[in-house]
Amino acid sequence: MANTSQNIPYAINVETGRRIKPEEGSNNARKGLYECFNPECRNHVFVSISKNGRAFFKHYPNKNDVIDYKNAHSKSQDTHTRAIELLSHFFKNGLERKSPMPLLLFETPDGVQKILPFLPKCIIKKEFTIEAINKRIDLAIVDENNNPILLIEVNHKHPVPLEKEIALKQFWWIEVNAKDVINDPSNLVVRKHRNFPYEFDLLGAQDILF
Ligand SMILES: [Zn+2]
Repeated sequence: MANTSQNIPYAINVETGRRIKPEEGSNNARKGLYECFNPECRNHVFVSISKNGRAFFKHYPNKNDVIDYKNAHSKSQDTHTRAIELLSHFFKNGLERKSPMPLLLFETPDGVQKILPFLPKCIIKKEFTIEAINKRIDLAIVDENNNPILLIEVNHKHPVPLEKEIALKQFWWIEVNAKDVINDPSNLVVRKHRNFPYEFDLLGAQDILF
């Protein structure tokens, strides 16, 4: 598994405010141009090139950082909570148009299909309770009237139980793995989903679902 404290998939370019991949950055950039993508860290990072020529972001070995990056990336907060925090942050930024919306990745028989969720005027709610069925959802994307649009369950050792699946049957929902989210919150590998068009699984014909 990737070491998230030393192999950082994204950085924020502080001049443009954009989230970038290592291959979009320069390894001659001035210190301070790139910040760690992790909202709890935000320390400066730089582009490093591995022996086989792959670019990645790294933290500076600097003990004067505002926040100790090892702490920010550590397991002190539990994996499930960290994944929900990251998801919430990435969807919020997407909805506020500060960065692209996270993509949903469906592994279909025809290969991986990437879906861009298009969710105008939506709001992100953590630990959202749907009163009608008395269920709490890890992360809900709701409309202005609190109607669920897309529900996200984060699996860390506990997949969605069957009884909850049944309760959620009228909603669009996906399940993602906490570790996948922590590795890359902008490319969400969908492990389970319900109410998405059946044809989608087989053909992957649609690019935009909502
Ligand atoms: Zn960091």
